[in-house]
Amino acid sequence: MPRVHASSRWPRLALVALSLAFAASIPRIAGAAGLEQVLVFLGRDHARILLLLDGPPGEVSTSSVAAVGSAPARAVLQIQGVSLAPRLQQAYRSRPGGTEMPVGQQGVRQIVLSGLGDGLQVAVELDRARTASLGEVGDRALLLDLRLPDSPADTSLPDPAYLAAWMAGTAAAPVPAEAPHPRPRIIIDPGHGGWDSGAVGCRDTRESDVVLSLSRRVAAALRRELDAEVSLTREDDRYLTLHERAAIANAQGADVFLSIHANAAPTPDLWGVETYYLDVASDANAAAVARRENEAVRRDGQPAQTADLVLGALVVSGTGALSSRLAREVQGAVVGRLGDLLGPGQTRDLGVKSAMFTVLVSTRMPSILFESSFLTNPDDEARLRTPAIQREEADAIARGVAAYLAASGSQP
Ligand SMILES: [Zn+2]
Repeated sequence: MPRVHASSRWPRLALVALSLAFAASIPRIAGAAGLEQVLVFLGRDHARILLLLDGPPGEVSTSSVAAVGSAPARAVLQIQGVSLAPRLQQAYRSRPGGTEMPVGQQGVRQIVLSGLGDGLQVAVELDRARTASLGEVGDRALLLDLRLPDSPADTSLPDPAYLAAWMAGTAAAPVPAEAPHPRPRIIIDPGHGGWDSGAVGCRDTRESDVVLSLSRRVAAALRRELDAEVSLTREDDRYLTLHERAAIANAQGADVFLSIHANAAPTPDLWGVETYYLDVASDANAAAVARRENEAVRRDGQPAQTADLVLGALVVSGTGALSSRLAREVQGAVVGRLGDLLGPGQTRDLGVKSAMFTVLVSTRMPSILFESSFLTNPDDEARLRTPAIQREEADAIARGVAAYLAASGSQP
């Protein structure tokens, strides 16, 4: 079990003094554990950050630092005997100051992970200074609570007992509180729009146009096949931020969120269909797709919210596993249908992958991002522009959603 010293220090000098004392008193620990995952639960004036390790940490200390000049307020956690696991390092942007995990919500700006001796420093950058308190969940997880001074604890956040049970695999994810809708409620999100055209094809096909057309067909198929209540996040060529799209789905309490996109690659030889759900990137290509699809956030002048963290609602409502099942159903249905329609060698199954898509981070229901084809491949582009193929693809997506709803018991 780690030895935990929790403290809150406002003046910066106090932090420096604390760090020095801390650095001097810690023996070096061999066999460093890896930090595998960071889960951020955001509540009202209260953030709870769970750090999942693959082994017990060494000595741990926390401190709070007020904003000074252009440096934001921070809560700093120093953990001895721990390093950053490769999968976290690969999933996020590394700068000289450390590996950055953007959050950009609820007063939490980002988390910067950097080496510190034989340990790791976790700095949470905040809009306003918060009190930091540290606890443990089992012997391989640390739980950092950050609250605005004098604000009450947010009881909607998952508590340590629940997190322990979830980590042990003994707690099924709590069932979302909402009663099932009499008709499935589905939000379709045509990617990009307005000034953000998304990918542009060899024949100048704009992703924002082609995915709107495909999305309309998916909506029609879902209404026809499932008698679903379907809305689109945008009905025309307008720009919406990624968070506005997710907010529409959350406000409507949708059962399923489908973000429809077309892919792009640096070279024209890449083609095929792939479907994503939210998790740490499954490979380097997946990470690149997420970076491109998340790009609109940065161009929008908002904080970079690219990647990133699995927000509490996703974990609590257990949407990760459901999203993965939804992704498999949709991907399978589309690849199967296009294979039948187009014949051998004309469809390529790139599979179901995970990555950190902002638009999926913010949704609270099973959500996927469907990449219908590569606009940068001339044949793929031509297929996607063909109305008859769009219709078949839309029908297949609807069938995949229907299969998912039937399997998950959501379909009345
Ligand atoms: Zn896109």
